[in-house]
Amino acid sequence: MPVISFLFFIKGSLMKEQLDALLHEAGSELAGISSEEALQEFKVKYLGKKGALTVIMKGIGALKPEERPVIGQVVNAVRDQLEEWIERALVTIRAARKAERLQSERIDVTLPGRRKPIGTRHPISLVIEEITDIFAGLGFQVAEGPEIELDYYNFEALNFPKDHPARDMQDTFFIDDNLLLRTHTSPVQVRSMLKHAPPVRIISPGTVYRCDSDATHSPMFHQIEGFMVDKGITFGDLKGILTIFVNQCFGKDTGVRLRPSFFPFTEPSAEVDIACVICKGKGCRVCKNSGWLEILGAGMVDPEVFRHVHYDPESVSGFAFGMGIERIAMLKYGISDMRLLFENDLRFLSQF
Ligand SMILES: [Zn+2]
Repeated sequence: MPVISFLFFIKGSLMKEQLDALLHEAGSELAGISSEEALQEFKVKYLGKKGALTVIMKGIGALKPEERPVIGQVVNAVRDQLEEWIERALVTIRAARKAERLQSERIDVTLPGRRKPIGTRHPISLVIEEITDIFAGLGFQVAEGPEIELDYYNFEALNFPKDHPARDMQDTFFIDDNLLLRTHTSPVQVRSMLKHAPPVRIISPGTVYRCDSDATHSPMFHQIEGFMVDKGITFGDLKGILTIFVNQCFGKDTGVRLRPSFFPFTEPSAEVDIACVICKGKGCRVCKNSGWLEILGAGMVDPEVFRHVHYDPESVSGFAFGMGIERIAMLKYGISDMRLLFENDLRFLSQF
C-alpha cells in the first residue's frame, strides 16, 4: 500500500471509539428526557440530517475499503439502538402523561350537575300581567295594535286635529308625514271600535314612544289603555271600575281621588290619584308631601271620537282610561329610577 494513500484513511478503530462514545453520551442524555418535545430534539440531535450519527456515517468513505463494512455494521447497530431507545422513551413519556391526567382530571360522579340559570319575569311584564288579570276579571278583553301607526289612528280619530297644541305633549318619532311610532295605546280603542259594535269592554297593553328621556321618562315605555262602551255608561261606572282596580293592584282601602283634567279624546276628563303607597297619605318625598300619587288619566269618551268610529253618541256612552306601566311598577316595587327597568342589569332584574 502506497504511503500517500495511508494518509487519507482514518482509522476504523478511532471511528468505533467515536461511535461508542456517542452511544454512551446519548444513553445518559436520554435518561433525563421527560417530554415529547425534548425527545424530538434528541432525535434530531443524533439521527437528523445534521445529527451526530449522520456526521460520523459520512466519514465511512474515508475508511480503508476492508474496514468500511465492519464500521458500517457498527453504525447500523448504533442507529438501531438509538431508534429503539427513542421508541421506548416515547411510550414511557406518553404513559406517564396519561397517568398524570387521570390523577388530576378524575371525574367525581357524586358532584351535582351544573344547572342552567333560570331567568325571572321582567317587572314590566309582571305588572302588565297583573293589571290584565284584574280587568279580565271585570269582563274586559285584551286587544293589541301596531306600534307603527297611522297619524289618523294615533291623533286625528282621537280628536287631535293637525296643528292642535295637545299634539306637542306627545311629540314622537315620525317615519313619514303619515306614519309614526304610536304615542299611546289609544289607537287600539279606535281600531277596536271600528271592528266591534257596542257593547265593548277592551283593555290594550303595549309599547309606546315619545321624544322624552330623563330619570322619569324613557323614549320607549308601556301603557295599558282600557275602555268600556254601552248604553247608559256613566262617570260613576268609571270611578267604580277604577276603584276596584286600585284596591286589587295596590291593596284594599287604598284611597282614590279624581281631579279634573283635559284630554282631547275624553270629556269630562280626570287625573286619577291614589293615596301614597309609601306614607299611606301622611306625606313623604315620593308623593312630594301631598299624600297622593297620580297613576292614570281617564274620562268619558268624547262624542267626536264616537263619530269617527260610527258609534251613535246619542245612544251609547263610555269611558276610557290609560296608565303608564313603568309608573305603576316603580310604585309597586319601590324603584326610584325608570332607567333601571331598561338597563338589563341582572343584579336588578333577578330581584323580581
Ligand atoms: Zn307619600
